Formats: sequence, C-alpha cells, structure tokens
Amino acid sequence: MKRIYTFGNRQAEGSKDQKGLLGGKGANLAEMVNIGLPVPPGFTISTSACQEYYDNVKALPAGLMEEVESAIQYVEGILGKTFGGENPLLFSVRSGAAISMPGMMDTVLNLGLNDTTVEALAKKAKNEWFAYDSFRRFLQMFGNVALEIEQSLFEEKLEAAKAESAVHSDQELSIEDIKKIVSEFKNIIKEATGEQFPEDPKIQLRKAIEAVFASWNNDRAIYYRNMQHIPHDIGTGVNVQSMVYGNMGETSGTGVAFTRNPATGEKILFGEYLKNAQGEDVVAGIRTPEIVSKAQDHNQKTSMEENWPKMYEELQKASGLLENHYHDMQDIEFTIEEEKFYLLQTRNGERSGKAMVKVALDFYNEGSISKEEVILRMEGEKINEIIHPTIAPNQSPEVLAQGLPASPGVATGHLVFSCDAAETFHQKGKPVILCRVETSPEDIHGMNISEGIITARGGMTSHAAVVARGIGTPCISGCGDLKIHYKKKTCRVMEHGTENEIYEFNEGDFITINGSSGEIIKGKVETIPGKIDEDLGQILSWTDSMRTLTVRTNADTPRDAEKALEFGAEGIGLCRTEHMFFEEDRINIMREMILAHTEEERKYALNKLLPFQREDFVGIYKAMGSRPVTVRLIDPPLHEFLPEKKEDIEIVAKELGRSYEEVKAKMHELSESNPMLGLRGCRLGILFPEVIKMQAQAIFEAAFICKKEGLEVSPEIMVPLVANVNELKHQRAIIENVYEEVSSRISDSSSLNYSIGTMIELPRAALTANEIAQCADFFSFGTNDLTQTTYGLSRDDAGKFLPMYKDEGFIKHDPFVVLDQVGVGQLVQMGTEKGRSTQPKLKVGICGEHGGEPRSIEFCHKIGLDYVSCSPFRVPVARIAAAQAALKDFL
Ligand code: PEP
Ligand code: MG
Repeated sequence: MKRIYTFGNRQAEGSKDQKGLLGGKGANLAEMVNIGLPVPPGFTISTSACQEYYDNVKALPAGLMEEVESAIQYVEGILGKTFGGENPLLFSVRSGAAISMPGMMDTVLNLGLNDTTVEALAKKAKNEWFAYDSFRRFLQMFGNVALEIEQSLFEEKLEAAKAESAVHSDQELSIEDIKKIVSEFKNIIKEATGEQFPEDPKIQLRKAIEAVFASWNNDRAIYYRNMQHIPHDIGTGVNVQSMVYGNMGETSGTGVAFTRNPATGEKILFGEYLKNAQGEDVVAGIRTPEIVSKAQDHNQKTSMEENWPKMYEELQKASGLLENHYHDMQDIEFTIEEEKFYLLQTRNGERSGKAMVKVALDFYNEGSISKEEVILRMEGEKINEIIHPTIAPNQSPEVLAQGLPASPGVATGHLVFSCDAAETFHQKGKPVILCRVETSPEDIHGMNISEGIITARGGMTSHAAVVARGIGTPCISGCGDLKIHYKKKTCRVMEHGTENEIYEFNEGDFITINGSSGEIIKGKVETIPGKIDEDLGQILSWTDSMRTLTVRTNADTPRDAEKALEFGAEGIGLCRTEHMFFEEDRINIMREMILAHTEEERKYALNKLLPFQREDFVGIYKAMGSRPVTVRLIDPPLHEFLPEKKEDIEIVAKELGRSYEEVKAKMHELSESNPMLGLRGCRLGILFPEVIKMQAQAIFEAAFICKKEGLEVSPEIMVPLVANVNELKHQRAIIENVYEEVSSRISDSSSLNYSIGTMIELPRAALTANEIAQCADFFSFGTNDLTQTTYGLSRDDAGKFLPMYKDEGFIKHDPFVVLDQVGVGQLVQMGTEKGRSTQPKLKVGICGEHGGEPRSIEFCHKIGLDYVSCSPFRVPVARIAAAQAALKDFL
C-alpha cells in the first residue's frame, strides 16, 4: 500500500481530490504543485499510515521509514541539498487532517539541524545569528513536541538570558547569547529525557512523525473533534516539506495575503508582509508589517507593490493562477528566500457577508462560475449579517455576558425593565433595550417599541425569541447570568455560572446587545445599518426560478406583511390572531369575554371584538394582494390575557366594573400546572365555539369586503393543536356554517375560494395524519410545539440547560433552532406521507421557527413539502436555502 506522496518540481503524486487520504493541507500542496505554482518540495504521509500507527498500538507501520528515506532522496534530488549534509536540507513537519482542525495538532520547524548542519547553514546564509537562532527554535519545538518537555522550561531560560543581557526582544540577543541558549536547551533535553539530543536528522524526523501522529489524540484535538463532530478514526496526514527562509536578510521575507479584499470583496491583493522575517513574526505583532498593495490603504506610506515590485508581480501571478484554478478568493501564505518566491499554503478565504456576495457576483461576471454556483456559495448567517445592523469596525465592545442569539442584529439603547418604562423613554425619543426575566403576550407593545430585547429565561423559541424575530428586533434570550430586580430597577451581571457579581446596570444605563452572537455589551456602541443592496437583490431574484419550495412568512400585522413582501415573501403561512387581541384597544374587551358569566355575555363582548378583527384582516389581505394568507384561530391559554400582578388586577377589575376578587378567582380558575399542555388551541375552540365563530366571521367578511373592491382573496383557515380528527371535524363544521351564514347574508351570489386546514404540532396528529387529512385541505407543521412535545421539553425552560447539552455533545444543535431530523423530522415526514396517502392533493408546509433555518429547509425540500413559512427578516435566507436545496438534487 502506498503511504507516501511526493510533490515538487511541477509534479505531485496527489491532488486536491484526495483530502481524505492526504489531509486538506497535503491535498492542496499537491494541487498547487500540479498547477505550476512554486511550492517548496516535500512529501505527505497519508492519513491511512496514521490509522495503521494506531492499529499498531502507537508504532509506526513497518517499512514506513524506508519509504520516507526514498522520499527524502527525491527531495534532495530536486534541491541539490542533502539531509544532514554540507548543503543541508531542512524540513518542516506539520499535521493536516481531512477536516481542518486549526492549531489543535503539532508542528516542528527547522528539522535536520545539529552541531554540524547549523554551521553549514550559517555559511550558506552568511548569517551565523540566523542559523543559531533557527537551531534554538528547533530545539525548543522539537523538545516540546517530540520529547514532551514542558514549554515553560525553555521559555524561562530564554527570558533569563534576555534579563541577563538587559534586552527586551530575542532579536537583540548577541550571537554568543544565542549559542549559550542552544547549549542550555540541549541540557534541558538531557535532563528531562536522560538522553542526549538526537544529532542524527533521521532520528529527529522519525520522532517528529511519531509526535504528529500522537498529537491526533491529544486532549485539545479530541475536544475539538467532539465539538465539531469530526470522526475520531480518520487520523491525520504528516506533511514533510523542505524549509525556505524568509529571514535570510533583506532579500528575503514572508507574508499572508487574500487574493481579494475579504471585507469588501474588492478585487485587490490584500495582505501584509515583512522583510527578513519568519512566518509567525507577521502575526505576532512585535514588528509592524507593511501592506501588500497600494490600494489596500491609501493612508499607508509604503507597500510591497512600490517597494518590491518584482516580488509583488510574483504574488500577483500566483494569485491569478490560484483564482483561475479554484474559482474562488484564496487566502495564501508566501515566503521569499533570496528573491525566490514560494507559496506555502492556499485555502478558500474567510470573508464578510458583503464580500461573500460581491466576490461570488464578480466571479460570475468574469465568466468563471455559473449562477447556480453563486447561489450555492451563499451562507445564511452572512446574509443575516448584511440585512441586520452590525457593530461598526472601529469599535471595541466590552462583553459582559452571553445568552442565546435569539434574533440577529445589534442594538444600543437605555436599559429598561418594564414595558411602561419603555413607553416613557420612547415618548422622549430615547431608544430602549427591554430586559425581562421572560416576556408574555402582554409585553407586545413594549417589545414593539424597543430597539432590542433581553430575557434571563427561555430558549430559542420562547415568546421573546419568536416575537423578536417576527418584528426583526435583535434579541438575546436565556441569559442566566443576569439577576434582574424589578423593584430596584437593577440588573446584576454575574460571572458565568457563579454568584460573583461583575457589573450592575441601573434603569436608563446604556447597554448594547448583539443578537447574532448572544453577547451583552457594556455601554453604547456605534452600529452600521443593514440593507438588501443591489448585488444581494440580484442574487435573491435568481433564486426564485431555481427553487420548488414556496417561501411564505409568519406575519400578524399589515406592517410585518409589508416588510416580508419587500424581502420577497410569496404569502402568509401563519398569522397568529391572538397577537391582535393584545392591542391596547382590544385587550379589555378580550378580558370582558373571558370573565363573561353566560354565553350571552360572551357573545356581547365578542361582537365588540369582531370589527377589530375584520379590520385587521382587511389590512393584511390588502397588504398581501392576491397572495395566499393562512389565518390561525386562537391558540394560547386564556390566562395569558389576564393580568398577573395585584395592582394590574385592581386596575382591570375597576375598568371592567368587576370586583378584585372576581378577577383574581378567574385567574385562579384558568391557571394550569403546564399551560403548554392544557386548555389551548382547538380545545378552546371546542369549549368556547363562539370565539371561533367570531374569528371565522371576521375572516370571511373581510374577504368579501376586499372582493367587492376587486381584490380576490382565498383565506386559508388553520386550526391549532389538533390531536384527533374529531376535533378538526368539529371546528370545520363551525367554520363552514359561518361561511354559509356570511355568504348568504353579504354576497351577491359570488362565492369565496376558502380552505380549512390544521397545524400538525402534536405527535398524535402526525401519527394519525391519514385520518386527519380526510378532513383537512392543508397541513402546516408547527415544529415549535412538535419539538416541545416530541422531546417532552418545554420551549420556555429549554434555555436553562440545552447550551450545556450542546457543549457536552449530547446534541449537535438546539432542536428548537435546527430541526431534529431523525426524531421530530421523522414525524414531519411520516405526517406528510400519511396525510397524502388519504388526500393526495394535500398542501403541506411548515411554520415553526425551523421554516427559516437553512438545514431544516433543505430537509423540508427533500421530503417534498410545498412551502416553508418564517418571520419576515428570515425570508431572504429561506429563499436562498430553498434554491440551494433544489440545486443539490442535481449535484
Ligand atoms: C409552532 O408550534 O411551531 C407554531 C408555529 O406555533 P406557535 O409558535 O405559535 O406555538
Ligand atoms: Mg404551536
């Protein structure tokens, strides 16, 4: 079995398609050589040799070192140098797994140096200091990595030498100092291992290869693999590559560069370099590197382009070749040894959202990639970055605590702890961040006028999270390190997981939240607003002809609906009608209805609510034009509409002309141990059919009003929380009767094209979907409740421990964020199939929060749903994700 793959001299045995066998780094090195780029020659030991090493209980496979020997000869032949000889060949030895694990495994540089070769190197480089300093670095790295000697032992000696010579940096040490350190480092090795430092380069190499293989299983690497769900048995490759030196004087140098500007996407070389330096010096910050191109920063006096045009041209040539080959922006590392240019690494460059869009469009316009490829390159997170406000680049935010990134974007404002305070600040034109232990529908008004929302409790589908995403307001939920004291109007920030207070906020203090990262930041921070610019608009418009899923939105008001339309929504998949009852002019009528003693009294109150609901629906229909609108009937438990605090109960009792005791008693009667599993959804509609009748009447009358004005609407009425077909039959009959009544009363013989469907949000509904479908025109999966009930995990309490579950590897993703495909997803798939088995034309969508999440959308596409529905601000990401899912069918 071949274990070693050489590269150099325009020929490589491997290629970029062999990442599994050669690791990412090895495969890219081979590829760069194959396309004619100047790469220092070397060889890669395959990941399967690493697997053999572990199969042999940590012993190198038999014959491996012989194969290494001939690979060394191959490199010697190319370079005219010898390993351990007069003109010494030195190697770097680096790890490289198929999946990048940055910094987790070990590296040794300058391997091959010993008392003889160091002299030869000094002679060749005409620089004794450089040669001995390289030896010093090698002893330290080799001692630590291959011989497992504490790094600090070397560091302390180096620091002591600097102190003795009264210098601050390594560079200031004299050659005598360096030579002395070399000999002391050898002593450290002798003392720690009981053996002399191995002068023989072949022994050095053997030990370094073993050390890299062994580092695959160091604690850091194992932890990282657990975190990233990388398999533990794939092993690492070892890249043994001839060293080139950027620190051989003023004709040498080293640098890093992106082939385009990674922040803006502009087509310029963008990077930094240093003359007479080694790789780590550029990033270490001890010396200030110079920029690569002039255009990068016009305020800088010098650049490589002006100062070293010959090498700049080489860099440009390499950059062009790489881009032509990879068809993407590259992030490269280069070294120049005595005016000879080498590439050491290339990979696709990390970029901002703006650059992601511009680079992809530019590559398309340059004729190098297709429209489809442009779409496939879009990342949801980065699209969010573009359409939401972000922190301005010149800011250095002080992060105090971390919660769940419940709704993206950055917001700054005065901290308030109640909706009343939010109102007071707002009226004075001051921006506010509302901070609550948790929110309830009662808080909608305060949430609406806040720039940002924080809750100490609740997960990613808690009330605060869902509402904030709906209205596009940044939100952090479940930040357990906040101790909110409503009476004192303070919020203490505790050191994570402890009782140590690190800061105290008072009402009115400035605070900033980053809802994209979950960070709570002290004080005011400057932000840049987000928007869909022309480039992103163009890309979004391409997605529409590529996808099969329709993208609808969850919108409860004409304002939300309009916003969603701007983002390209094609209909409403969920209008939560209860949110309308919380508006200031209706909440008391709603309470009157709940407190009614008789059906008569209830009907009286409902009659007062009717015109409001009708008006709401007219507004929404008009905003949406002829697009489909799904209206969901009342869902939450009734106690949510009643006040909780004593003083509020008193006010409400007075306003409604009831006694305090009566309101309190009703509260008590309605309270439930687990309101999520009690009297809510269609169960309410069954107990209080008058409520449903009023809602259906408002829906139909509004549609007829629009029809009269020339707007044809086809309302889709959705019944929530159905578990049993009989529940749906009951509700359906009521709705149909109301239609008959309304149409015969209003219509001049024309009819409405309406449909009645249900949410599938309980496991029993999914399991009996074949029965339920016989009575439904459409299904919409409410995956928030379906996740809650399948997991047996309240969506409001999940925030307390789910982050720990994720960190410890129990779950890969929060199931309230990314659909749990094997569990909850199975119910969605089964529900769809069973539903369509009895009702082939059944329209099926999803309206839980997962409807705006790219991985979940891909799943919805695969199992053949008709549409996804998500909050307005997630519509752009959903359009892209739906197109990507469809394109992947053909990959
Ligand atoms: C759901 O449960 O997924 C859903 C959309 O309904 P709600 O979030 O209003 O419970
Ligand atoms: Mg629900």
